[in-house]
Amino acid sequence: MKSVIKSFFSLFLFVLACTLWAGIFFILPYFLDNPFNGWQGWFITLFHWGLECFATFFLIYFFSVNKYVFAVFFPLFSLLGSVLSFYRYAYKAVLTPMLIDASLHNDLRTTLDVVSIPLVVFVIVSLLISIFAVKYRFEKLKVSKPLIHFVASALLLCVILTANGRLTASLMQRFPFNVYYNFSEYKKLRKTLFTERIDPDPTLKSTCNDSLKVVIVIGEALRADHLSLNGYHRLTNPRLSKRKSIFSFPAIYSEFTNTNMSLPHILTRADSIYPERAFQEKSFISLFRKCGYYASWISNQDPAETYVSFINECDTVLYCHPEKSVYNYNEWLDEDLIPLAKEIKKKDSPCNLFVLHTIGSHWYYNNHFSPPFKVFTPVTSSRILSQCSKEELINSYDNTVVYTDFFLDSLIQLFENENAVMIYLSDHGETLGENGAWLHAGDSEASHHPACIVWCSDKFEQKYPDKVKALEMNRNRYFRSNFLFHSALNAANIPSKVMDKKLSIFNFPLQ
Ligand SMILES: [Zn+2]
Repeated sequence: MKSVIKSFFSLFLFVLACTLWAGIFFILPYFLDNPFNGWQGWFITLFHWGLECFATFFLIYFFSVNKYVFAVFFPLFSLLGSVLSFYRYAYKAVLTPMLIDASLHNDLRTTLDVVSIPLVVFVIVSLLISIFAVKYRFEKLKVSKPLIHFVASALLLCVILTANGRLTASLMQRFPFNVYYNFSEYKKLRKTLFTERIDPDPTLKSTCNDSLKVVIVIGEALRADHLSLNGYHRLTNPRLSKRKSIFSFPAIYSEFTNTNMSLPHILTRADSIYPERAFQEKSFISLFRKCGYYASWISNQDPAETYVSFINECDTVLYCHPEKSVYNYNEWLDEDLIPLAKEIKKKDSPCNLFVLHTIGSHWYYNNHFSPPFKVFTPVTSSRILSQCSKEELINSYDNTVVYTDFFLDSLIQLFENENAVMIYLSDHGETLGENGAWLHAGDSEASHHPACIVWCSDKFEQKYPDKVKALEMNRNRYFRSNFLFHSALNAANIPSKVMDKKLSIFNFPLQ
């Protein structure tokens, strides 16, 4: 009996030592740049780190019951852990399905130094330590009653990983569980890519002959009533408000309050009567391409299963920051989309459709504006909502709005001498303390009212004065967010029989 307890105790200490090593060198880098305030914030962050380590303990425990399994597992675990934590610490980069896709297809379009001397040193040291651990496991540890250990560790690991949805989501964002999570997300996305959607207008055939540039900007969590263009008391649109031919639509209604559900409804002709079209039909991108448009998707967000097939409808797809996820707490800016749009614009195609998917006003707000746009202060200094005051949260949020104003103005500069039209539509709004709620994906009224801004170039205005007049006449009318499908086609004069003019903001009177 004594020897059983002794063997259990030595295994426990061994797993604990391995977990501590992993906890400090492979897991801690995911928490070092998390903003928090005071001892309470420090404690909450430490608690989250502890949870990740706690779950990792049972993973290592599971694999160390059998010495041969451990000999394969632990060096591999250390190799992945050292590489991923190095990039997380040195480059603020995390594993994402996009990064996996880019690496597997050998088109890693990032500025990261893929291999550097400190990385190689860190990986070698980690591997040496793992080999030492394997040697120790072989020579010093005898595990009695392995079946009990095996079943106990597997059961406890399953309980920890599935007990609570929020806890699971948090665990899956950091090493080691992020490896499993991102590969399974990647697999899901690949599967979705090959699910065929129906062409909403198989008979459509046309050519494009007036060199039009149609720019669709999908915003993120920008609510209409925080634009000074719509009468907000703070000057959040200092640049756009000075431009001519800017039309803000304050009365757009989005039924969905999260990105994944909203995008399929914005991009297809789904409506409240036929909502299933969002998951059965192709988007307007395919209809543009059938008419000779060169379509590109330039993204500052991760693709999700619900809309990755639309991305695949494009001729070109560029990811601006494949190494970021919403669990990153460092600068992640939309202006990085502009050089990519510029690059595509250089290609000699007469008609272009650009779809830009922005990070906009996504939480954590401070990451999504650069220092010159810290206009309203004080801003938040913690990612823990309960540590932020209402004033700080709204200041941080409003700074993202000023930044979006700058971003859209810079994008317009790129197209102002062309025959061009830009439609900006946020995927949903944001809740800012109404009834004590924050962020989005809930059902507060404010998250159903996304911002929408349209801009037309002088050339577009000269060519299509009726369309521009219609924008002026329609600007205060109520539209559901599925107006985008019909309005994009109408703006480009695409003669599709599925385009409903009544739902186009470029058409007046609406009949
Ligand atoms: Zn969203």
